[in-house]
Amino acid sequence: MEKLEPISISLDIEEAKNKLRTGDWDQIQTLLEVAKPLISAKAVYEICYIEEKLEDTVIIDGIRLSSRVLRKNLEKVGRVFPYVITIGANLEQKADLCMDLLEQYYLDTIGNIALLKARKHLEDHLHSRFAIDSLSYMSPGSLVDWPIEEQRPLFSILKGAEASIGVKITENLLMIPRKSVSGIYFPTEITFYSCQLCPRQSCEGRKAKYNEDMAREYGILK
Ligand code: SF4
Repeated sequence: MEKLEPISISLDIEEAKNKLRTGDWDQIQTLLEVAKPLISAKAVYEICYIEEKLEDTVIIDGIRLSSRVLRKNLEKVGRVFPYVITIGANLEQKADLCMDLLEQYYLDTIGNIALLKARKHLEDHLHSRFAIDSLSYMSPGSLVDWPIEEQRPLFSILKGAEASIGVKITENLLMIPRKSVSGIYFPTEITFYSCQLCPRQSCEGRKAKYNEDMAREYGILK
């Protein structure tokens, strides 16, 4: 298992402004300073080769991952990188103790910004270490086609994640610490976003427009 730790995260008010759009910037600047020492970003990933490609399933390390979309995305791919990234539990514990809901929201948003930056760090590392021009990722639970239950097989592939960086899944399949993300990176010619296949409206996290033609092409819209 490959490990990136520590991942250095810089946080500045401009990034918070982009994310929050409106707010008490003096308070947020103070909270950024509070948050910085509480962030402990790290990541682990595996370098895996696909053993078998079935109709709507791929087998990696003897473990079955079932998703029509993932299967299609891996059509021309041999090597993948299952990963887990976290910023640790300290910031969310601080937010949980906050009585002021707005302050709690600001701290939560700062945590999301930090997690995005940790993701970018892992992506940059994969690009440079493996000389990959373009990478995409999928995460269990982001599409009906690859439900949250698929965290179990994913964490079976990443079985060292808890010992290595302290991330585990609960019986309800939530990750602890909560500010963690998991999934699989794979090389692509054109960047794939699960959002392109997700019709959900009003999602703050949307990264690409819903594409009905693409949903048909992937066989998840009849
Ligand atoms: S639109 Fe939102 S819910 Fe749907 S895949 Fe993108 S981030 Fe997830």
